[in-house]
Amino acid sequence: MARRKKVYEGKAKILFEGPEPGTLIQYFKDDATEGDERPEGRGVLNNRLSEFFMTGLNTVGVPTHFIRRMNMREQLVRMAEMLPLEVMVRNHAASGISDRLGIPEGTALPRPIVEYYFKDDNLGCPLVAEEHIVAFGWANQQDLDDIVALVLRVNDFLSGVMMGVGVRLADFRLEVGRVWEGDFMRLIVADEITPDNCTLWDTRGQDADGNLREPGPLADMPTELARRLGVLPSNVTHLTKSTLIN
Ligand code: ATP
Repeated sequence: MARRKKVYEGKAKILFEGPEPGTLIQYFKDDATEGDERPEGRGVLNNRLSEFFMTGLNTVGVPTHFIRRMNMREQLVRMAEMLPLEVMVRNHAASGISDRLGIPEGTALPRPIVEYYFKDDNLGCPLVAEEHIVAFGWANQQDLDDIVALVLRVNDFLSGVMMGVGVRLADFRLEVGRVWEGDFMRLIVADEITPDNCTLWDTRGQDADGNLREPGPLADMPTELARRLGVLPSNVTHLTKSTLIN
């Protein structure tokens, strides 16, 4: 088989040229984000979970880059021209906004808040305002309006799906890219939707007496989320080589 051309290697994924023009293959690695030990199989789970969420979004008419999963670690996606931004939606206050604005962690925000971060690791992905984005030409005002509409739909969908399995979506971040259909450009959800990009709390957690306790971090992520969503068989409690086989 001909060797595939590697287009990019990041911390979490490798991109290869896809089989047709305008497509890419995303390979999900187990590798760590700095300082974070990722267990074996994390890439396999993230591939499955991103497939699960993006398929759901496509089904309800929210455009994403996802075409199909190819195997345990790879999925075929539409190539997009990525905006140099991470778009964050916050429903409840967690680390970033709590530290910055002194809002106690866990506080329900009055409405979902959309924030933008400039995607540059050397700068530590700083928070930026719409003013910066438009002034520096990363996106125009119409794009920003479209992005807000897009990510709020993603938020409603993800929040609902998670709520159904006892998980609170405190916040998440995603990346958006441009694709062209003839002369028309549209913005789609790209990159990945996985627990690595979300703050998730368990609303089914119990204390020693069996009473429901305040939502706390969801333990054993992402395995527990995958199990609750039915992405892993319910009798699987730990990732082993055999549970990772297709
Ligand atoms: P970080 O880990 O901080 O997100 P990274 O660039 O190392 O940064 P990876 O997930 O390892 O992240 O790399 C995936 C890369 O692929 C990202 O640069 C992302 O913008 C890009 N990408 C994701 N989806 C698409 C797509 N549909 N078309 C083109 N590029 C994409």
